[in-house]
Amino acid sequence: MSRDDLQDSDVLILGGGLMGSTTAFFLRQQHGLSVTLLERELVGRQASGTNFGNVRRQGRELFQMPLANRARAVWGRVKELLGEDLEFVPYGHLRVCYTERQAAIIEQHAHDVRPLGLNLEILNARQLQQRWGIFSPGVVAGSYSPEDGHANPRLAGPAFARAARRAGARIVEHAEVVQIERDGQGFVAHTADGRRFRAAQLLVACGAWSKRLAEQFGEHAPLDPRGPQMGVTEPLPYAIGPSIGLSSPIEHEGLYFRQITRGNIVFGGGLKGPADAERVRAASRPDNILRQMRELRRFVPAFENVQLIRVWSGIEGYTPDWQPVMGPSARVPGLHYAFGFNGEGFAISPGVGETMAELMATGQTSIDLSHFAIGRFAGDVAKAA
Ligand SMILES: Cc1cc2nc3c(=O)[nH]c(=O)nc-3n(C[C@H](O)[C@H](O)[C@H](O)COP(=O)(O)OP(=O)(O)OC[C@H]3O[C@@H](n4cnc5c(N)ncnc54)[C@H](O)[C@@H]3O)c2cc1C
Repeated sequence: MSRDDLQDSDVLILGGGLMGSTTAFFLRQQHGLSVTLLERELVGRQASGTNFGNVRRQGRELFQMPLANRARAVWGRVKELLGEDLEFVPYGHLRVCYTERQAAIIEQHAHDVRPLGLNLEILNARQLQQRWGIFSPGVVAGSYSPEDGHANPRLAGPAFARAARRAGARIVEHAEVVQIERDGQGFVAHTADGRRFRAAQLLVACGAWSKRLAEQFGEHAPLDPRGPQMGVTEPLPYAIGPSIGLSSPIEHEGLYFRQITRGNIVFGGGLKGPADAERVRAASRPDNILRQMRELRRFVPAFENVQLIRVWSGIEGYTPDWQPVMGPSARVPGLHYAFGFNGEGFAISPGVGETMAELMATGQTSIDLSHFAIGRFAGDVAKAA
């Protein structure tokens, strides 16, 4: 292929999950830059399409709150913004616990997030029972975030990519990037089938597959691919609005669930299964599914006889400090990263996209990204050497 076959744009985005597709959308919609997004298979098919769908702000590190609030603002207007319904329902997010010790932690968190723009309502066992009437007597307290909720992950990624395309972005599926080289001040991405794409700026948003691409630029980000475990039950009469999670330091107690308006209970939480990023496979663990079913019944006795109809998993990238890699490269001008969202990236994805677009278009953003800098892992390489 001759050099003339190079396809140019201002920004190249690698990866068509939600981080890539929301960034492409906002780059076009708010900044008018030309954008090409390269996706190895189909947009929104990996973690972004297999996740639980929680739109949750509580329970995050305090320094994630500005990003989470920005994302929540987009979720609130997502239907008019995209012209498509992502089934986002602001029916609230509820976190409950089994111990007084955990209740004190929840209460402290409510106190800490209030000045950051999130008002949580603290409820005791009686108030929880009065409001929802579903929990076992073991549930002692909870915090309720009335403006959060859940959305349909199967719809979100493709809808953002379609909206980005309508706004003028070039979305290229079945384009696996195998190598990137510097080209003057810019970048050229080579795909497995021999196509080449050039841009002045590059965003690596390849989810659990991003590590190898960062390493091409001499940057290290420890990323462990793992598979959160999901299940869905038969439909029950629709009764539960909020998305509900158990707050517990004990991993095998971990559980969260939501009811969709068709009645099914979607659930997840607890132990994560192994994920094979190379073969693109994440398996459901039968022992964990049985554990989740037991915990579901312990949590809500009325689920005693509910039938399981489907289980699945997906591949997510986890970092050692449970924080994403997001922001500019520490070494290469024009290079940016947004990956490693540790099982909680769906909720904040529109905020990530809006922030990355702003950063790449203007060189700055009002969101403090210092906690997410890739440079925080540079010492790991030095130690290993
Ligand atoms: C089972 C499960 C449940 C979850 N539940 C929740 C939840 O309830 N709430 C929440 O907030 N978060 C949740 N998450 C996390 C959330 O789904 C992720 O953090 C988020 O979707 C990550 O988006 P992404 O764009 O970074 O990655 P992905 O969606 O994985 O997208 C990365 C894309 O890059 C592509 N790609 C990879 N390599 C290349 C290459 N070389 N060239 C081109 N393209 C490439 C892949 O094909 C993929 O489409 C969950 C995750 C899983 C797996």
